[in-house]
This record gives sequence, C-alpha cells and structure tokens, in this order.
Amino acid sequence: MDAREWIACFSALVTADAERLTRLDSAIGDGDHGSNLDRGLRAAVSALEGADLPPGKVLMTAGRTLVSKTGGASGPLYGTVLRRAGKALGDASEVDAPGLGAALRAALEGVQELGKAVEGDKTMVDALAPAVAAYEAAAGDGLAAAASAALDAASKGAEATVPLQARKGRASYLGPRSVGHLDPGAASTVLLFRALAEVS
Ligand code: ADP
Ligand code: MG
Repeated sequence: MDAREWIACFSALVTADAERLTRLDSAIGDGDHGSNLDRGLRAAVSALEGADLPPGKVLMTAGRTLVSKTGGASGPLYGTVLRRAGKALGDASEVDAPGLGAALRAALEGVQELGKAVEGDKTMVDALAPAVAAYEAAAGDGLAAAASAALDAASKGAEATVPLQARKGRASYLGPRSVGHLDPGAASTVLLFRALAEVS
C-alpha cells in the first residue's frame, strides 16, 4: 500500500463526490462538508508532492495539512485520523496488513477521544468503527482483502446512519429532524476506505 496514492485517491474521490457530500450536509448541517474536505485534501496532495517520505510520515503530513486547511469539524477529525494512523506506522518503510490494522485502530481511538462520539451517534464513527473491526477480522487474509472488507463494513455502517437521530455535531441541533438522512461524515469515510481498497 502506497500511502501517498491512498491520499491522492481519497482526494480524487472526494472531488468527484463533493457536490453529493455538500448536499448531504445541507440536509442536516450547514452544507460545507464536500467543499471543506475537498479543499483540505487538495492541499494535502500538494503538500506531499515531490516529498520522499515513509508511509507514516506521509499520513502525518497529510493530517497536519488537513487540520490547517480544512474548515468545520471534519478538519480536526480527519486530521486526527491521518495523524494518529501515521504515528502508529512510525518510520517503517513498508506497510503490512497488521501494521495498518493497528494504525486504523489508533485513528478510531483518536477520533473518539477528540469528538466523544460513539457508534449510533450518527457521525463518521458509525462508518469508521465497523470498518476498523472488519479490517482487523480479515487482516490475516492480507492487506487487500482486509481493505475490501473494511470498505464493505464502512458502506453498511454509513447506510445505517439514515434512521438515526444525531447526538453529536451540528446535525444534533436538529433533534428528531436529523432522522431520515445519511450522515455526510459517514459518507466521506466510505470514500476513505474506497480509496484504500483501490490502492491496496
Ligand atoms: P461542520 O459540522 O463543522 O460543518 P463538516 O460539515 O465538515 O463540519 O463535517 C460534518 C461531519 O463531521 C458530520 O457529518 C459527522 O460525521 C462529523 N462529526 C461532527 N461532529 C463529530 C464528532 N463529535 N465526532 C465524530 N464525528 C463528528
Ligand atoms: Mg458542515
């Protein structure tokens, strides 16, 4: 798995889906999720251009850039995902299946420490937590198989946010009116795992 390709692929998928993400956020938030993430990820891709870094440092650089260039809640949240994952990978020159599993677990823990969301709160955690668990369960079959299992679980987790009432983030201000909509951050988390599956 090439970490720079992962970020570039995530960025391209978010660019392609930015309008949909923004539409989802218009329904239960302030309509900026697609543009926020698109801006931050483009900046991350630029920051990585020409740099020859080990995978852990690639993710840490991308995460730092996301924190500084992405508006809204998703900047610090996705920044934490990438920085924690990068930190867990350390200075290793190659990413193996168990190493990436530990990195994804650290990323989830970081997001939950920061945002205090648990599964069922209708946030990106509803896609991230099952994806990490599915990755770990399939890690023995290799990185590509685990990434594909994670993508499947992330998609199902995101879909399952539709009937939920939001208990964290801007959507929680809507109370029961947040029911019946897909959470935008869960939808973008699916793209993070689609990108991982594509480059694995
Ligand atoms: P903002 O809500 O500041 O406009 P974005 O629109 O970029 O930020 O991102 C909204 C997404 O962030 C939500 O759909 C949700 O998935 C995620 N989110 C918001 N608050 C939290 C939280 N406390 N923990 C985890 N994810 C959260
Ligand atoms: Mg928003």
